[in-house]
Amino acid sequence: MAGHSFFGDVVALFDKAAKHTNYPKGLLEQIKVCNAIYKFHFPIRIGNDYEVIEAYRIEHSHHKLPTKGGIRFSMMVNEDEVSALAALMTYKCAAVDVPFGGAKGGIKIDPRKYTPEQLERITRRYTAELVKKNFIGPSVDVPAPDVATGQREMAWIADTYQQLRPNDLNALGCVTGKPLGLGGVDGRVEATGRGVYYAGREACSFKEDMDKLGLETGLAGKKVIVQGLGNVGYYSAKFYQEEGDCKIVGIAEYNGGIYNPNGLDVEKVFQYWREKKTLQGYPEPGTEFIANSIFTLEKECDILIPAALEGQITADNADRIQAKIIVEGANGPVTAEANDILTQKGVLIVPDMFTNAGGVTVSYFEWLKNLYHVNFGRMDKRFEEANYQKIIKMVENITGKSLSDTEKKALKGADEIDLVRSGLEETMVRAYNRIRETKMQNPNIEDMRTAAFVYVIDIIAQDYLSLGIFP
Ligand code: GLU
Repeated sequence: MAGHSFFGDVVALFDKAAKHTNYPKGLLEQIKVCNAIYKFHFPIRIGNDYEVIEAYRIEHSHHKLPTKGGIRFSMMVNEDEVSALAALMTYKCAAVDVPFGGAKGGIKIDPRKYTPEQLERITRRYTAELVKKNFIGPSVDVPAPDVATGQREMAWIADTYQQLRPNDLNALGCVTGKPLGLGGVDGRVEATGRGVYYAGREACSFKEDMDKLGLETGLAGKKVIVQGLGNVGYYSAKFYQEEGDCKIVGIAEYNGGIYNPNGLDVEKVFQYWREKKTLQGYPEPGTEFIANSIFTLEKECDILIPAALEGQITADNADRIQAKIIVEGANGPVTAEANDILTQKGVLIVPDMFTNAGGVTVSYFEWLKNLYHVNFGRMDKRFEEANYQKIIKMVENITGKSLSDTEKKALKGADEIDLVRSGLEETMVRAYNRIRETKMQNPNIEDMRTAAFVYVIDIIAQDYLSLGIFP
């Protein structure tokens, strides 16, 4: 993997798809490049010394504003990685019809080496640097959680921004993934994992696609391996097990994985992992511990969900992957080369740009909520409920039969979480069907990733053309 360029991979996948379109070269070039790259350094006091921190915010596309994308803490952060992730955000937003350009941020640190107070100083200083250069704001660029960041970091960002921009009425819309009390939206934490679940469910719902793979239609009973027990991996595994009725046979973390053909209880594995910080010694009988974690991905299963980092399935291990379906929870887990090898083998890859877009979809809902200044459901829940009661009365009068209390209770008005979930489900189902139709309409398109790229290139190119920038 040395010398391998993640952004180069994204460009290669884009170019492969662009061949199926007729847009002028210059327009395609404009879509591909990163519009603004901000690399900066700042000092942080640690004990009696200072440490210089390297950080980035890269805005890939300004064709729609604000730009949107997470901030990660990782030692792998560099310009190439953040550019690739920013570009994927542009394509992801277009894939699920979320009206943002793409961006990404990264701070090159190992978060495990810092205390919460130090992390707070780093996050607040990073935010202040973004404010100074106008790289954050509800109408400019809106960060969100990503690898090793969550509600806590988003709260620090929102608070710092508010302090520096006290007159901005929409200040809370400067970042998403916030805690509920600070303008967050119900259901954002689980959103990416839930989206990964809807993506796989939809992919497995087409009989002709499943027949080609020699699999039954539907998720129920499918054997699943999940890589990563972070936010995306944990919730994906949980929903595939609890709502999809799948058997989770393997779970991998960075320091080792486990495999059990009889199935693992996601909640128990997660609690074990949280407590011990290793999966070694997980007590379920019949569980094999795999010290070299990456080998977990090569075990027997129907669906593989890489939900950790980029570059996990490469030309080196693609041949040994046994899964028939790969649902990409992470960004860029399969390299461009591996993508071709797996496609040749007939593996169905449900691509990242659509699969993990549940996070940004619900981020969009959160941003809307911040601009509305009102919780979803507040204005209409009771009204809706009263209407249902009227309808029930009418039906009871006409039929002479009465509904049970449980039946009546099921007809309730929508809470915020109900609206968020149904908005997310609708978004994921619609996007998958549109990408699949793109592939069906053009038999020369080899795989779902290329179809997804063709679909989004079309959308973004049309946006540029309607801006009148290109003739
Ligand atoms: N970091 C997430 C992603 O890669 C979420 C981005 C967002 O919500 O803006 O999609």
